Amino acid sequence: MALVKLKEFCIPDKPEQVDACVAKYGENALILAGGSFIHGLEARGLLSEVEALVDIRKLGFAGVTAAAGGLHIGAMTTFAQLEQLPELGSAPWLGALKDALTYPPMQIKNAATVGGCLAAACPFFDIPTALLALDCKLSTNKAGAKREMNLADLFSGLFENSLEPGELIIEAKLAKPAGRAASAFIKLEGTANDLAIVNAAAYIALDGSGQCQEARITLGGGVGDNVVRSSSAEQVLLGQKLTEELLQRAADAVGQDIQPMADHRASAAYRLAMAKVFTKRALSLALSRLN
Ligand SMILES: Cc1cc2nc3c(=O)[nH]c(=O)nc-3n(C[C@H](O)[C@H](O)[C@H](O)COP(=O)(O)OP(=O)(O)OC[C@H]3O[C@@H](n4cnc5c(N)ncnc54)[C@H](O)[C@@H]3O)c2cc1C
Repeated sequence: MALVKLKEFCIPDKPEQVDACVAKYGENALILAGGSFIHGLEARGLLSEVEALVDIRKLGFAGVTAAAGGLHIGAMTTFAQLEQLPELGSAPWLGALKDALTYPPMQIKNAATVGGCLAAACPFFDIPTALLALDCKLSTNKAGAKREMNLADLFSGLFENSLEPGELIIEAKLAKPAGRAASAFIKLEGTANDLAIVNAAAYIALDGSGQCQEARITLGGGVGDNVVRSSSAEQVLLGQKLTEELLQRAADAVGQDIQPMADHRASAAYRLAMAKVFTKRALSLALSRLN
């Protein structure tokens, strides 16, 4: 269903103007950032009630601040801008984000924003899987009222987020780990430029004796309504010396936490099998970056 009820295209240059448009149209006002997923929402019949588009590109919120404590990524930062960040090339803990950014086609990288890829709550995107593995936190703003949330709390259902009407994601924040840590991301796609059949990211941190102190394993690509974190797999690793055999056991455990779907890209059984294979590969890559 197309934008049959569209009445207004707002292009605010101040946050208060966003509030005015949202006050008029409520839930029927749709925020527009890079605009690269609007057709994806339309194809799924999710725009039939939209009466106003609110283009936030003039509001700023772009750019990355890298500090000793980590990264603050403005919500309007495009994938192409993020890819230029020197830290991505040199910090093993950011490996998953660096890997995930290699997949989208260049045209999409130039338009797609960090805020848009998260707010879309699409289970097939790559960057959210990587950012969840990096324990991303979000800052949001609605009519001057700010709030902080964990990325996991943003996702409330298939293509549904927990933002209130007119609440904007302003920033995504990644805290730099204190000790030895690395991460990695891998995607299985049917064809280049396609959405993921399955994707997996792994973050591991070791303590001084080389045991696994922290682990986050996340999966996307239709293994649930949103990106899924596999605590069962993480439990296998915590407190242990990481061996290839242990990584395999952790990868096998992801089956306990995911509910793969069947669609035109893959059957549920294939997604389940590949989720284990790609988790193992992401873990091995993260471990190799630590060593
Ligand atoms: C051909 C193609 C290939 C792709 N390949 C990949 C890929 O390989 N890997 C991958 O990860 N992704 C891929 N994508 C998806 C891409 O990542 C998303 O389209 C993009 O991230 C959406 O961001 P946007 O800024 O364009 O959002 P928009 O399309 O503008 O908006 C998306 C949704 O987010 C909401 N929104 C946007 N910004 C905010 C904000 N700051 N606060 C609150 N709500 C907001 C909008 O209201 C809308 O609901 C692909 C898309 C296409 C079309």
